Amino acid sequence: MEVFWHDACLEHDTGVGLWELPGRWDWLDVAEPHPENAARLRTFRHALEHGPVAPHLSWSTGRFATDEELARVHTRSYLDDLRAACGQRTAVELNTVVGPGSWDAIRAAAGTALAAYEAVAAGRTRLAYALVRPPGHHAQPDLADGYCLVNNAALVAETARRAGRRVAVLDWDVHHGNGTQEVFRGTPDVLTVSVHMRHGPWGANHAQTGSPAESGASNVNVELSLGAGDGAYRRALAEIALPALAEFGADFLVCASGFDGSAFDPNGRHNLTADGYRAIGRAVAELGLPTVLTQEGGYLRGYSALCLHTLVEGLLGLDLLEDPLAYVPDDTQLVDVDLAAARSTLTDWDFTTYPAARGPV
Ligand SMILES: [Zn+2]
Repeated sequence: MEVFWHDACLEHDTGVGLWELPGRWDWLDVAEPHPENAARLRTFRHALEHGPVAPHLSWSTGRFATDEELARVHTRSYLDDLRAACGQRTAVELNTVVGPGSWDAIRAAAGTALAAYEAVAAGRTRLAYALVRPPGHHAQPDLADGYCLVNNAALVAETARRAGRRVAVLDWDVHHGNGTQEVFRGTPDVLTVSVHMRHGPWGANHAQTGSPAESGASNVNVELSLGAGDGAYRRALAEIALPALAEFGADFLVCASGFDGSAFDPNGRHNLTADGYRAIGRAVAELGLPTVLTQEGGYLRGYSALCLHTLVEGLLGLDLLEDPLAYVPDDTQLVDVDLAAARSTLTDWDFTTYPAARGPV
């Protein structure tokens, strides 16, 4: 597996404040770093460079995306406004911050995701991981949202679509991939699948609910209840997401890979463990598809780094690191209800073409 990196991704400075709200909070003795910060990405890189999976990985340097490339999934006016906003530290929406280093970081994240795509498209590797920030899956054609500015996963998917691939996007970040859903609304030849926590809409830039009511012919939303955990994600993949990919006939996969569903993530609390992410990696590997993964959320940086490591283990068929922290039991009571609700609006789908769909696993 090839991992793609660009130093400019570290130049996006999101500042400090009250968790994700930048600014002055005088009643805090020590303000906290914004959760989406450079230290988390450096920690992720260090885990893959120095963890036991390191000998199995090769590293490549990404590149900057061009304006024309960014415009494949965003409006020109949005990109112009975003570039101008990066001239000084400002919040482009409630908790999404930009500053002087951000435009280069945005272009580096998008271009590095494209470099990962190019390696896979050229047959140099079947699996490529774009270890980038800022994340992208909430970014819509003309809106920033939820720390996301340019939708890196959607850009890869659209680029692959234009190259004639039948593309699916699989998103396991704990939050709904609303931006990707919007980019491909009305594009039936790209399948978007999001497995996420039931969190509903938020703020002026996030009108989407992520509910099964928004599912359709080429968009599949699986909402899971609080406390879902490893078993619920395993079943959501085996019983809905992977069968949908098979039925759609995807020949190229883009994964929006977040670790904020972990049991310890302050933005997620969805009870996934490092073992759960390893299982997700295995499930993706079993598809055998050319695959580009883009880094999305994951905000408790040490545990997220462990989850990234175990996800990569799963992708490579390895089992290396123990999880020293997992102890919270899953809440399994609502999984059947959640999966039935997800299926209820997918009346055009059959879900029987993938072997694991024929019974719970
Ligand atoms: Zn997230």
